[in-house]
Amino acid sequence: MKKILIIDDDKTIAKVILKVLNKRIGIDAEIAHSLKEAKSIIEHHDNNNNISLVICDYNLPDSPEGGAIDYIISKKIPIIVLTASYDIDIRDKMMSKKIADYIVKRSTKDLDYLVSSVNRILKNSSIKVLIVDDSTVYRDTMSGVLSNQLYNVFIAKGGKEALTIFEKNPDIKIVITDYNMPDMDGLQLLIELRKKYKKDKLAIIVTSGYGGSNEIPKFLKAGANDYINKPFSTEEFICRVNFNIELLEMIEILRDYANKDPMTGLFNRRYFVEAGLVIHATAKRNNVNIATLMFDIDKFKSINDTFGHDAGDKAIKTLAQILSSSFKRKTDIVARFGGEEFCILTSYEDERNLLGFAEEIRQKIEQTTIDYAHHTIKFTSSIGICKTCFDTLEQMIKLADERLYEAKNTGRNKICIC
Ligand code: GH3
Ligand code: MG
Ligand code: MG
Repeated sequence: MKKILIIDDDKTIAKVILKVLNKRIGIDAEIAHSLKEAKSIIEHHDNNNNISLVICDYNLPDSPEGGAIDYIISKKIPIIVLTASYDIDIRDKMMSKKIADYIVKRSTKDLDYLVSSVNRILKNSSIKVLIVDDSTVYRDTMSGVLSNQLYNVFIAKGGKEALTIFEKNPDIKIVITDYNMPDMDGLQLLIELRKKYKKDKLAIIVTSGYGGSNEIPKFLKAGANDYINKPFSTEEFICRVNFNIELLEMIEILRDYANKDPMTGLFNRRYFVEAGLVIHATAKRNNVNIATLMFDIDKFKSINDTFGHDAGDKAIKTLAQILSSSFKRKTDIVARFGGEEFCILTSYEDERNLLGFAEEIRQKIEQTTIDYAHHTIKFTSSIGICKTCFDTLEQMIKLADERLYEAKNTGRNKICIC
């Protein structure tokens, strides 16, 4: 497990930071009060390379005025620097080094910022960023700054190369593109990317030295999320990139609130119908076989009554896990319709395979055991399937539901299909 190292000779501050990080983002940290102590901790961890971030006071008794920073950077560990006061010279000195961030320790507000900065930096390595610029200097500067923030940085010299990189990395979250480039300019690239990726999934920031106030709306109207005038300060650049990423993350959270069931993380009925309509229409058009499968835990009420509601919840989560790990294709939708009832939309090649697969899942559910408060709980599920692509998705859901109740009425723990 990766760890954070806090280096501060003020023991109270170090302890407060540790406590806040632990409580707010569940992160464990070690504390050192001097560079010497820090070195010994880092050397100790060196072999397994598990210090993922250092938070370091600018002035330490055995290394005044930022002396520890170079050592941490030489160890290739990202660093957030803490200073006691805001001083423009210190700021410039730090920004010229490869630090991830610096924070002035004044009040609890600064602690809030520290927590969000740590959180951001630890998340960044899973975020792909693409820099597109024909200027080597700008490319190197921007990629250096974002690499210091631990972002996963990709680089392109022009629009065409950017599109090629996108083909292999469609999960890029943010593009920072120059406007004037020889092969394909930033506006053309923006227009191309927007044909495929919406503003709430991919952030595009345009940068240009020529963008007078008349130019900027052109980019924003073509779908840019933001615009940065060149030349820009490193700090402004980082803030804008982080701001745009945070906006995408907030949108993602809102989307999840609207589309997902909080207990299982599966989609809800509303999303199932919305996304299912598109899959149903495409399947009809292309003559693809699709089926709806309805699952409902048998005698679930007795699990609640015998072991309590929490045990019932655990059974629901277990079934959700079995279903989501069974139906993994991109076009499969697994949803919790309510209570202990789940619905799946999937495609299949022949009926025998579909039935065989459903039977495997039925058996898997039957064989799964749940450990709960010294008890071992087992449960079964009845399954109703509609394998015919009727005119509407609603009909397919209704028929799967009717088959489910046939399974319930004829003994449970079985599959009925139509
Ligand atoms: P059957 O075999 O006919 O499906 O019987 P059943 O007992 O599984 O079904 P019934 O519809 O009678 O009971 C479902 C129960 O599920 C009733 C409700 O209180 C409970 N329930 C609904 N949502 C949740 C939940 O989120 N957690 C838990 N623990 N129980 C829930
Ligand atoms: Mg039930
Ligand atoms: Mg039920």
